[in-house]
Amino acid sequence: MEIIKAIVAAWLLLLLGDFFSTFLYHVPEHVFGKFHTLVHHGKNRSFLHYAVLTRKPLVLIDGILGAIPYFIFTPWLWQLSPVGTSIGLLFGEFHVVWRHVSILEWQTPKSIKFICKLLLITTPERHWEHHRNAFAAFGDVFTFFDPPAQKWLIFLRFIRRKFKQYRQVFATQS
Ligand SMILES: [Zn+2]
Ligand SMILES: [Zn+2]
Repeated sequence: MEIIKAIVAAWLLLLLGDFFSTFLYHVPEHVFGKFHTLVHHGKNRSFLHYAVLTRKPLVLIDGILGAIPYFIFTPWLWQLSPVGTSIGLLFGEFHVVWRHVSILEWQTPKSIKFICKLLLITTPERHWEHHRNAFAAFGDVFTFFDPPAQKWLIFLRFIRRKFKQYRQVFATQS
């Protein structure tokens, strides 16, 4: 029973963390912000500049903002299973580093690729797609967040366009 609770807690932490990080931070940042794009999708695409592999303050802030959703649910899931919650946090931390190792000419072994495909987990190769094309391969941890994230992206870009149009109309009237 304890082991099932632990698995559920770890999985929920990653699921909720990735969900809120993707929909409330990552996608809106791509539409309205410059911050994440600058740090995460900069011209100098060396992964060594990114995430936890660097100590530049801006990069760290981007990482922290993206990680907040994981910590928000920690106290709640802790009541379900402290062990599972800790494993979830450790896995999340490990995954940030792991999905950014592509630049180091990393090739995910076939067996790991198979497990990731089975569990719908993002591999470094897939996350690299997102760095190359900021409008593809969303879902930092889980691949199934990509389709709804794409729709969310299109919707938010539509809102931004409308907002700009209104502002223009307003500006010409006054
Ligand atoms: Zn990344
Ligand atoms: Zn991004």
